[in-house]
Amino acid sequence: MSESRIDSIVASGSVKKMLFMPSGKSLWIVVGKDNEYWTDPDLGFCTCKDFYFTTLSGGSDCYHLKSVKKAAEENRFMTIRFDDSEYVQFLQALADDSASLLGSS
Ligand SMILES: [Zn+2]
Repeated sequence: MSESRIDSIVASGSVKKMLFMPSGKSLWIVVGKDNEYWTDPDLGFCTCKDFYFTTLSGGSDCYHLKSVKKAAEENRFMTIRFDDSEYVQFLQALADDSASLLGSS
């Protein structure tokens, strides 16, 4: 995966931080061409197929993880605020998306 691809993802504002208040919990989302991916740089986790098939079997981080790490380092991401009451609903939606994404292969 080339550096320039990661640069362009960060530059285009595709990295978003969902911030839940008042708890301050956050989730990172990377908007891809067809899907949004839930990426957790602390856990080293992503919902994309690359992560599932490559990173998990000892390969390098997927480009979402790399993009989130770069965006966080350079403070170049969009923050979207939500209420804590939406957190569980949000996780559920992400889980459903990921299940259908992986199931479609
Ligand atoms: Zn990914």
